[in-house]
Amino acid sequence: MQVIKYPIKESWKDVLSRPLFNVDELEEVVNLVFGDVKRDGDKALFQYTQKYDGVKITETEVSRATIEVSEDLIPNDLKQALAIAAKNIKAFHEAQFQKSDVIETSEGVCCWRKSTAIEKVGLYVPGGSAPLFSTVLMLGIPAKLAGCKEIVLCTPPGKDGKINPAILYACKLVGIERIFQVGGIQAIGAMAYGTESIPKVHKIFGPGNQYVTAAKQRANRIGVAIDMPAGPSEVMVLADESAEAEFIAADLLSQAEHGADSQVILVTWCEQLIKTVEQELAKQLKVLSRRDVATKALENSKIILVKTQEEALEISNFYAPEHLILSVKEEDSLKDGITNAGSVFLGNYTPESAGDYASGTNHTLPTNGFAKAYSGVSLDSFMKSISFQKISEKGLLNLGPVIETMAKAEQLDAHSNAVTVRMNKIKRKA
Ligand code: NAD
Repeated sequence: MQVIKYPIKESWKDVLSRPLFNVDELEEVVNLVFGDVKRDGDKALFQYTQKYDGVKITETEVSRATIEVSEDLIPNDLKQALAIAAKNIKAFHEAQFQKSDVIETSEGVCCWRKSTAIEKVGLYVPGGSAPLFSTVLMLGIPAKLAGCKEIVLCTPPGKDGKINPAILYACKLVGIERIFQVGGIQAIGAMAYGTESIPKVHKIFGPGNQYVTAAKQRANRIGVAIDMPAGPSEVMVLADESAEAEFIAADLLSQAEHGADSQVILVTWCEQLIKTVEQELAKQLKVLSRRDVATKALENSKIILVKTQEEALEISNFYAPEHLILSVKEEDSLKDGITNAGSVFLGNYTPESAGDYASGTNHTLPTNGFAKAYSGVSLDSFMKSISFQKISEKGLLNLGPVIETMAKAEQLDAHSNAVTVRMNKIKRKA
């Protein structure tokens, strides 16, 4: 990891730049694949699965029997772990239901909102370099809680041409029945346009690599909603002398192992920590199964020495990390100053992987600085609110003149008239 000492504010943008692909090249390939999926449907999915996943498929949908048998193919300890994680994720998301009160904004004028589920949703579960069955829980549980009627899930087939049984079992646990062995841009295109086998959806959810993220953004431009751009993973750790170098290194590596395009950043105002974290990184990296991937990600990664914890916080809000870990004594003062982050982990005993799997919060989070404007996935992401209003005759007599005045000032006479004709009728009746 590159160590940068006391960067001046003007250099933050460069120091904190992310390792992104060439956007023009990404868009070119996304446009090509989307065009083919729109025109050729399933045939294009077969071709691109062969091209990008190296697998020949003749069906896109996974059979009921294959989903059923997944239960026998995964160990009991994993089943138990999934059950506990699912319980916690359900509890956290269930508590997000909001009741909507009827508000009488002025006498006789009542307004309220009703939340309804988005009917058709598409979930993307990454599977290129690791089968992220945890994402099935993170997307499937809130989708089910919200009451989405049609849930389809796409995930790429593994090198053996099959979907990892843990993904299938997680689907079974959550109650997702329509699973398609299609990944990458072609999966997003299929859910955006619909093909012979894959239904078109209203909103697409889920993390993925840069191809998947660019494809979601393209889907959005053709009128399909998306949760957010949730691309390559990132973590920023703010640490002082109370932090444990061993823990920091483990957290940095936990995100670095996601992909070569992941980025991890340590910001500290404690110079001695830098050496010990570097030593720990070297020690832990040696024994990691995905050390090649993590090593590449560390090349994009930084250790930044700053003068004060206030400056560290400012850098963090500027970067807007997907994951932010605070390993500091003065947790409260820093915590209250956070304005941009996807999900925050407080204290030495809250590893970021707790949020990835089992604490209950959602792991589908905005990356690439989008935490400045987007939230992570929540129950709300699967719902929309419809506003209602009911005005009594008395209410219209009260509010009508206000509406008439405003409508006339905007030169929208028909708007004004819709009120006037009603007020005239009420006055005639009286
Ligand atoms: P993936 O499923 O996102 O992508 C794999 C697919 O990419 C393949 O099926 C293939 O179709 C396509 N692809 C690969 N090379 C291609 C090429 N040259 N051209 C066109 N398409 C190509 O799986 P992954 O690659 O393992 O990536 C998972 C990503 O998800 C990681 O970057 C990880 O950091 C990220 N992630 C993000 C979050 C979040 O909330 N932001 C959470 C978990 C994981």
